[in-house]
Amino acid sequence: SDAFLSVRDLYVRFSTEDGIVKAVDGLSFDLERGRTLGIVGESGSGKSVTNLTVLGLHNPATTEVAGEILLDGQELTGASNRTLEKLRGDKVAMIFQDSLTALSPYYTVGRQIAEPYVKHRGVSKREGRERAIEMLEKVGIPQPRMRVDDYPHQFSGGMRQRAMIAMALVCNPDLLIADEPTTALDVTVQAQILDLLKDLQQEFGSAIILITHDLGVVSNVADDLLVMYAGRAVERGSVRELIREPQHPYTWGLLGSMPRLMSDVTEPLTPIPGAPPSLLSPPPGCAFHPRCGFTDLVGGGRCATERPELPDGRGSACHLTGEQKRSVFIETIQPRL
Ligand code: SF4
Ligand code: MG
Repeated sequence: SDAFLSVRDLYVRFSTEDGIVKAVDGLSFDLERGRTLGIVGESGSGKSVTNLTVLGLHNPATTEVAGEILLDGQELTGASNRTLEKLRGDKVAMIFQDSLTALSPYYTVGRQIAEPYVKHRGVSKREGRERAIEMLEKVGIPQPRMRVDDYPHQFSGGMRQRAMIAMALVCNPDLLIADEPTTALDVTVQAQILDLLKDLQQEFGSAIILITHDLGVVSNVADDLLVMYAGRAVERGSVRELIREPQHPYTWGLLGSMPRLMSDVTEPLTPIPGAPPSLLSPPPGCAFHPRCGFTDLVGGGRCATERPELPDGRGSACHLTGEQKRSVFIETIQPRL
């Protein structure tokens, strides 16, 4: 494929005292340059692990990785630390949920933004500082020349998040991975940060992976969506397809538990009953079956024994027929959204 990032049959397993955690259990997806893929799921769905693995940030002593991660034609699963170190911050960059852990309190914001640029481009510290000022301006920090020598604690939460984005983009990465980048922020700042990411993507042409538990957040920014459950992708499609006619009962649940920002009703509709399964011993068959209200419609106990596969392209990993998915959504789910 001509995808910039291609993940094929990725398996990630951790050894723990309690046994083997199947954090990612056979995942495939493609991402093209200039596009944004939203990876959506509850915590423990494997969405963050997937991306740490792409960056080679997992602990090799306790983690077993199988499958293929091709970035611009380069295989990353077996890559050396040196290779990965070269990629990180340059070709691939990451934005985390919490800017306080990403930014050190001991160095100025400007110095930290400049650091990957100085390291990967081999420029002088002075040039790095100029670049940091330019980046602060791009991410909308007023009077960047006055703020470049501030320490992180002198920035507001929203400004720190902007500074972290500046740091991530300073080398003009081809791939930006944003893990819950706005979760810690209030709704107004969230919207500003997401708008900023979109604008910067236009300017830099990066591919973005946006990881979130909030379908509402991604649907405004992403082009394509991948819904993950228990370490597997259960539905994929363009944002438009997936929001207009979601197919998987888990996606229905995510939509149902989305706050209704557009209406007067602000409380969640129907949260998904139960909790995500332990990845030490995921349920057999469809991992969602203990929480799913549609197993009888499939019948024959199939949901508990036979694992549904996700087709390529638009589709969902669920034993309901296409017609059942359509009619249940239109008759039962949609009227309640
Ligand atoms: Fe529900 Fe069965 Fe579909 Fe899984 S396969 S989502 S349990 S109906
Ligand atoms: Mg996470």
